[in-house]
Amino acid sequence: MKLIYEKPIFIDFAWLISVLSSSMECYNDECMGLLGGELRGNGLQLFATPLLTAERGHDTVHYNNHPDKFELSKEVINSLGLNVVGCYHSHPNDSPTPSDDDILCSILEHITLDSQDISSFDWRLEMIIGISKIDYKYNFNPTFSFKTDDYSITGKIKHGHNGWNINIKGHWIQPVELLDEGYYPNRQPAIFELKTKKFPSAWIWISE
Ligand SMILES: [Zn+2]
Repeated sequence: MKLIYEKPIFIDFAWLISVLSSSMECYNDECMGLLGGELRGNGLQLFATPLLTAERGHDTVHYNNHPDKFELSKEVINSLGLNVVGCYHSHPNDSPTPSDDDILCSILEHITLDSQDISSFDWRLEMIIGISKIDYKYNFNPTFSFKTDDYSITGKIKHGHNGWNINIKGHWIQPVELLDEGYYPNRQPAIFELKTKKFPSAWIWISE
C-alpha cells in the first residue's frame, strides 16, 4: 500500500481559483489557508479554505501564536466533511521554495496539530504559492496558460495590461526529534495531477 506522500494530489480549478484569489487579494502580504482533502481512487482530492484570521505580514504569515485557532480550523474542515491535510501560504513576488522559517513553522504546526489530535495523516502537506504580478504594455484578452510536471504547477494569467506568473510547489513533512537540537523534518516532494476538464469559460486555454 502506498504511503500518503506517494499518492498523486488531484488539483482542480476550484482549488486554484480559491488559492490564487486569496494570494492576489492581499498581494502585498503573504496569505495562508487550510488544505482539506479526502482519499479518492488512487490519490488525494484537495480542497482549500483561506484563513482570514491569520496574521499577515510582508514576508511572513502566522497562525502559530493562537493554537486555539487550529481547533476552529479543524471544525471548519470537519464540518465540510473533509480531513485536515495541511496548509498553504503565498510567496508574493518570490519562488515557492520554503524558507528556514517556513520549515520551522510547519514543524511547530505539525506538533500543535499532533498534540490536539487534529491532523488526519502522519504526514502533513505544506504548499507554497509563488505568485508575481506583471504589467504588460500589450492589452491581452483573458488568457491562461499552464505547464505541469509531477512536482510543480506553473502558469501565466493575462488580462488587459495585468498578469500573474504562478509557480506552485508542495512538500510533505514528518517531524523527527533529534536530542537537544530541536526538531528536524523528513520531507518528501508532493506529486500533483492537475485536472483540466473544467476551467472558467472566460479563459482561453493554452496548454504549454
Ligand atoms: Zn514562506
